[in-house]
Amino acid sequence: MKRILSGALAALFASGAMAADPHPHWGYQGESAPAHWAELDPGFEACALGHMQSPIDIRNAHQADLPEIDFDYRTSQAEAVNNGHTIQVNLPDSGGIEIGDAHYALAQFHFHTPSEEKIDGASFPMEVHLVHKDAEGHLAVVAVMLKQGRKNAALEEIFDTLPADGDSHALHALNPAVLLPAKHAYYTYAGSLTTPPCSEGVRWQVLKQPIEVSESQIEAFRKRYPMNARPVQPLNGREVQESRS
Ligand SMILES: [Zn+2]
Repeated sequence: MKRILSGALAALFASGAMAADPHPHWGYQGESAPAHWAELDPGFEACALGHMQSPIDIRNAHQADLPEIDFDYRTSQAEAVNNGHTIQVNLPDSGGIEIGDAHYALAQFHFHTPSEEKIDGASFPMEVHLVHKDAEGHLAVVAVMLKQGRKNAALEEIFDTLPADGDSHALHALNPAVLLPAKHAYYTYAGSLTTPPCSEGVRWQVLKQPIEVSESQIEAFRKRYPMNARPVQPLNGREVQESRS
């Protein structure tokens, strides 16, 4: 009985325009928009006070002898989650990346629309963030731009079954390498989470080459999230480096 009642209440709330929000109330529009994130919770102050924030507009990158990103991804069980801010795919056993001496395990990937990072002022229809963590908890994000083009068959199940707000479901086993373009040249800079609490110390790698998704795949995502991108943040003297290949 209890379960039926709470289900009914949940349905009631979900149907109302003024529904109580079960998620932290930051968002992308109105009073919960990025410009107000720091006011919403004392723990979010880095969103306003931080000097190494993400995303950025990548311009005038300096070519450097950067290590290649060694992608060591493998097929993992996968779960798609709608967390109220994006669609996230959790991959508990999907391998990771090495950059120089640093090793990071992949935890999840998720999507933004339009892209958060810009390249020479230009944004892309979507961006995927592959979020990795090393043994000490340091984060490294690999960002891949999504441009409109052919239907991406490897991502078909994800885009065909995007969970509704608060829902999640298992996907077929997935190798996250399907999100990577053929070339792995990248830009890199020191940044932050692009969502509250906007914590800094995040190592960003933005791949130069985009992958393709179809217009209908972009539209499917935008039915769930019409806009979930933080505006670009000031560089504050940070250097953006660019790999040679
Ligand atoms: Zn993200």
